[in-house]
Amino acid sequence: MLPLQAVPPAAAILPFPRHPSAARLMLSPPDLAGGELDSLRMALDSGWLAPAGPTPAAFEAELAARTGFAATLATTSGTAALHLAYRLLGVTRGDEVWAPSLTFIATVAPAVQMGAVPRFLDVTPQGFTLDPGMLRDELVRAARRGRLPRVVVPVDLYGQCSDLDTIVAICDRWGVPVLSDSAAAMGAVHRGGRHAGRGARLAAFSFNGNKIVTTGGGGALASDDPALIDRARHLAGQAKEPWPHYEHETTGYAYGLSSLLAAVGLAQLPALEARVQRRRAVFARYAAALGDLPGLSFIPEPGWGRANRWLSVARFDPQAFGADREAVRRALDAAGVESRPAWKPLHLQPAFRDAPRSSGAMAAGLFEQGLCLPSGSGMTEAEQARVIEAIASCARR
Ligand SMILES: *Cc1c(COP(=O)(O)O)cnc(C)c1O
Repeated sequence: MLPLQAVPPAAAILPFPRHPSAARLMLSPPDLAGGELDSLRMALDSGWLAPAGPTPAAFEAELAARTGFAATLATTSGTAALHLAYRLLGVTRGDEVWAPSLTFIATVAPAVQMGAVPRFLDVTPQGFTLDPGMLRDELVRAARRGRLPRVVVPVDLYGQCSDLDTIVAICDRWGVPVLSDSAAAMGAVHRGGRHAGRGARLAAFSFNGNKIVTTGGGGALASDDPALIDRARHLAGQAKEPWPHYEHETTGYAYGLSSLLAAVGLAQLPALEARVQRRRAVFARYAAALGDLPGLSFIPEPGWGRANRWLSVARFDPQAFGADREAVRRALDAAGVESRPAWKPLHLQPAFRDAPRSSGAMAAGLFEQGLCLPSGSGMTEAEQARVIEAIASCARR
C-alpha cells in the first residue's frame, strides 16, 4: 500500500502557470464573460456533474434560442459533433464525403476514421468558402459515375458563412444531404439574419478555447429536425436503451458535454453578440490601417452573410508588398505577436495524399499568401496598434 498522506494536496501545486497570452499577443485567447464562477457554483450546487441534468439542458435551450435551430445537443467537442453527424447520415466504408480543401482537418477526420474517402473541392474568391459551381459540375460527373457522395460538408471559413442556400439547392437536386461545419461561426448570420449553419440538415459548432465563445472544450450539433438530435443524444450517451439493465442495439459514444463545462458555456453565451461586434471592429481597424498598402488584401465578406470575423486573415502578394507572409510572420513573432498561416489545404496534406481532389488552386494560393492575425475580443487598440506597426514595417517603401 502506498502511504496516502505522502501525496501532496492539489493546492500545493497552485498557482498554475499563466496562459502565454499574459506575455504575448495571441491569435484568439479565451475571453471571460464574468459570470462563469457563479454559473459553475450553481451547477455544483445542483449536484449534477455528469453530462446530464439541468445545466446541459439549459445550455442547449439557450443555444437553440440564440441560433433559431429547433434542437441542439451539447457535445464534448466540435469534432465529436461532426462524428455524430456522420454517424446519423449513415457514412460507411468506401462512401465519399465532399468538403472544401481549405479547412481544418477535423472537418473530415471522423468520416475518414469511419472508412470514408474524402474528396476535396476548391473555394471561391468571393469569400474563400466552398465553390458552388465546382460542386454542381462534380455532382453531375459523380452521378454519371454512379457514385454520389454520402454527404457534402461546406465550412464557414474563419467564421464566414458558406453560400449555404445555393449549396443546399444544388445538393437537393441529387438528394445529397448537407452537413455544415460551422465550428468557428457562432454568431455569424446569413442574409436576413438566419444563423450560420441553418438550412443544412445538420450543423456542428465548437466551443474550444480559441473560439468566439468557449466552454474550455466543447461543441454542439444542431438541426431543425428534432428527431435527428434525439438520435444523436442516444448515440452520444453510449446508446443505452431505456431498460433497468444495460441494453444496447448498437454502440455509441461518450460525447455528452459535462455539466460543469455547460455551466461555463451558459455564462459565455450572453457575451456572443458583443464579441461578434468586437471581432468585426478588430477586422475593420486592420482593414482601415493596412488595406491601402500595395500587395496587402483581406478576405472579402460576400453579400450573403455577416461574418463573425473569428480570425482576421490578411493576404500578402510578395512582389507588390515587398515581403512574403513568412517574413511578416517572423517580424510579428519578433514583436511578441502570434500569427499563423491560413489553413494548409487538405489536398496538400500528407495524410490525404491518395484522396481524390478537384482543383485546389484558390485554397493553395490562400495558404501561400494568407496569414491569420490576432483577433481576440479582449485585444486592446494599443495591442492591435503593435500588430499593425509590425506589418506596416515589412511593406516596401
Ligand atoms: C475548431 C474547428 C473544428 C473542431 O472543433 P473542436 O471543438 O476543436 O473539436 C472543426 N472545424 C473547424 C472549421 C474549426 O474551426
